[in-house]
Order: sequence, then C-alpha cells, then structure tokens
Amino acid sequence: MTITPTPISDALVARRARAVPRGVGVFNTVTVERASGAILTDLDGRSLIDFAGGIGVVNAGHCPESVVSAICEQAGKLLHASFNVATYEPYVALCEKLIELLPHGGATKAMLVSTGAEAVENAVKIARQATGRQGVLCFTDAFHGRTLMALTLTSKVAYKRGCGPFAPEVYRQRFPNYYRFGEGLDLETFVARELKSLERTTYTSFDPAGLAAVIIEPVQGEGGFNPAPPAYLRGLREFCDRYGILLIFDEVQSGFGRTGDWASWQGVGVVPDISTYAKSLGSGMPIAAVVGSAEVMDAAAPSTIGGTYIGNPVCCAAALATIEVMQRENLNARAIQVGEIIDRRFRAMARRFPAIGDVRGVGAMRALELVKNSDPLQPDGDLCRYVVTWCAAQGLVLLSAGTDKNIIRVLCPLVIADDELIRGLDIIEAALENGTKQ
Ligand code: PMP
Repeated sequence: MTITPTPISDALVARRARAVPRGVGVFNTVTVERASGAILTDLDGRSLIDFAGGIGVVNAGHCPESVVSAICEQAGKLLHASFNVATYEPYVALCEKLIELLPHGGATKAMLVSTGAEAVENAVKIARQATGRQGVLCFTDAFHGRTLMALTLTSKVAYKRGCGPFAPEVYRQRFPNYYRFGEGLDLETFVARELKSLERTTYTSFDPAGLAAVIIEPVQGEGGFNPAPPAYLRGLREFCDRYGILLIFDEVQSGFGRTGDWASWQGVGVVPDISTYAKSLGSGMPIAAVVGSAEVMDAAAPSTIGGTYIGNPVCCAAALATIEVMQRENLNARAIQVGEIIDRRFRAMARRFPAIGDVRGVGAMRALELVKNSDPLQPDGDLCRYVVTWCAAQGLVLLSAGTDKNIIRVLCPLVIADDELIRGLDIIEAALENGTKQ
C-alpha cells in the first residue's frame, strides 16, 4: 500500500502522547483540523472519508450550515444560565420537540443532560424512584457509558478493569445475539429459548419484585451492531409488565436517524417506559436526553435530577437546528438508502471473503463480523485491526466494534454522497483483500 507522509499529523500525535494519559484511548493516528459533510481534513491537508462520524455523532453531517448559524446566534445571546436557576426557551422547545417525535405511549416528558452516560445515570435514578425498587438488569456486550452506574451496566471487562468497586444491585443476562448463539435454530425457536432463559433468572439471579428496570440497547452499538430480534423485545416488554419493571431503551448510538427512525424502537413497535439519546442529537455539541412517560418521569423528586450544565442553551439550539436539518433533508429515509448500499456491498464481500462470518444491521447501522474458520465463536480481532489501520492509511476513518474488536461498523454521516460512500466501501474491500492474503 502507498502511504502518504503526514509529518504535521505525526508531530501532533507525538505531542498527544507526551501530554495526554494513555488511558484516553484512540483507534489510530489520524488527526483532524476541519470537517464538512462526510469528509475530514487532517493537519497535512489530506482528505479522509469519515465512516466513524465521531462515534455516531454526525448523522446530519459535519458542521451543517444551519446548525453552525444557530450555535453562533445562541452563543451571542446566552451561553449559560443553568436550567436549575432560570428557565430559558431553547431547553423547553427541545423537550417539546422530543416528546412530539418520541411519544412514550401517552403523555410524555423529557429532560436534558450533556452526555449519553449521564442520560443513562438519570434514567436509572428515575426508574428507581418511580418503582421504589433498586435492581437493574442489563445485558452482555452492552455499552452504556463510563460513569459509575453506566460503567457497571457496561459489559466489556477491558473498559472496567481496575475501576471498581461497581454499583450494587446490577444483574446481567445474555444478549439475544442470534449470529453468535443461534446454533442453527430458526429465529422463533431461538427467541423462545432466550426468553425462557430470561424467565429462569427470576429463580436463579434476582427477585423480579426488587427490579426497578431492565436496560437494553435495541441495536447494540459498541457491542457490535447486534439487533435484538423484535420478538425478543416484545417478550421483554411483556416480562417487564408482568413484574412491574420499567423498560429502558438506550438509543444513544442507534437514535436520531441511524436506523431510519428517530429511535430504533419505533421501527419495531415496542414502546419503552424511558429512553435515552445523545450523540447525533446535537451534531457534536454535548447534549443528551431522557424521554419517558410523564407519570414515570414525574416520579423523580425535585433536585434528585439536575446539574450545572444540563441542557446548555447553545447545545439546545444546536439540537433544534439538527432536528430541523434531519426533517428538511429527510435523513431518516436517507438512512435506509445508505444502509441498502452498504448492505449490498457487504454481502458481496461476504461471498468473496470467508473471513466475513456475518453481515447485519438496521437502516444505516451496518456491520460485518470477522471470524476464523466460519465459527461465530472464533472472533478475528487481528484481521479487524489490520483492516482499520490499513483503511486509515488509505484515507478512510473506520471504527471497529464488539467485545472482541472483530466487527467493522459503519457510522458515516447520512449526508454522505453516494460516490464517497462507494469509495469508502472500495477501501474496505481492498483492505480485506490485503488482510486475508497475509
Ligand atoms: N449508551 C450507548 C448505547 C453508547 O453507544 C454510548 C457511547 N458510545 C453511551 C451510552 C455513552 O455515551 P457518552 O460517551 O456520551 O457518555
């Protein structure tokens, strides 16, 4: 492969290594000075196609003009007041918009925070107050953030090593990963088996009467773009209703256009009691939301949820403008088109390379899983690392995923032009060609 020298980028990466602790991980040595649409420009002036989207944050593209204008205009009026001190309109307007787009089966309310992890923390606090119970059930391969409760709920041990003790009263159930655990069963039989195993936990792991919430990503993000089968989500809803448990959907990565809906649960038709959003809601400005049925949301007592920076006015303005762009450009429909292009191409690659064990996803949330010997239980993390590194050198920023880091995921901006998307997919195919020859 030809590698263009990047001396200015290399110098910055060296400064990073001297000044920033290594615990702040990074996937590759790419730098970025500016970005527009789906293209990043690095410090050496090199253009890179962005399939990472800042980890799923720029579904509406990098620096959409109307979002940048809304940010500048709001910054000139009010940078901060704290919503715990004074009421400002952009916060209320954003909550109104969120409850219009994401009704939770009747009267709905929303609150704002700054990050996905904070949204998850607050969702759990609200569920505990609403039920008067403490337990939370989560899933293997889940990712919910890096604060204490969110990290406790997160599955991957590599993210948690040495960070304990973790929060008590958290239980974990196997995520219904059909590719990995399907064992030749048809989907219906598989779902029935997994739901039976869920029921069994009420004898073996916890008293369901002590469970405040079940939290699940309907399509796992960091865990490898694993969609929970719709029938499983329906079964989970019934399980929660049977025992008076609240169902929380974490849509931080799958929300705001990625799967072709405002939230992936809308495509499945299973309504949660509470759901969480962040990432592409604000086009890069730190804004996150907890949305839920008004009755559940109002169960949290005054002052038990809040914070200095909740729903910063500039971030609220960015989110309102982002939603406006998504509606104007019909990005939910575009997600379906982008997903179809990726899926078609990934399936063609899977026919060519036996190392691709599975191709899957919902809307534009698409992934391919790399395994050895066509065995779902033999993840090929080395090939995946090779592909990601090779792509970066060839001008494509790409993320891996999965607890075993063996899954290639696409989180490109939905505004990506077809030729940029195809060029990115060409680079992935070339990387696989080289990587599987090694
Ligand atoms: N939940 C999910 C599903 C996520 O994908 C992430 C971030 N990758 C988080 C929560 C945490 O979000 P943040 O990094 O903004 O805290």
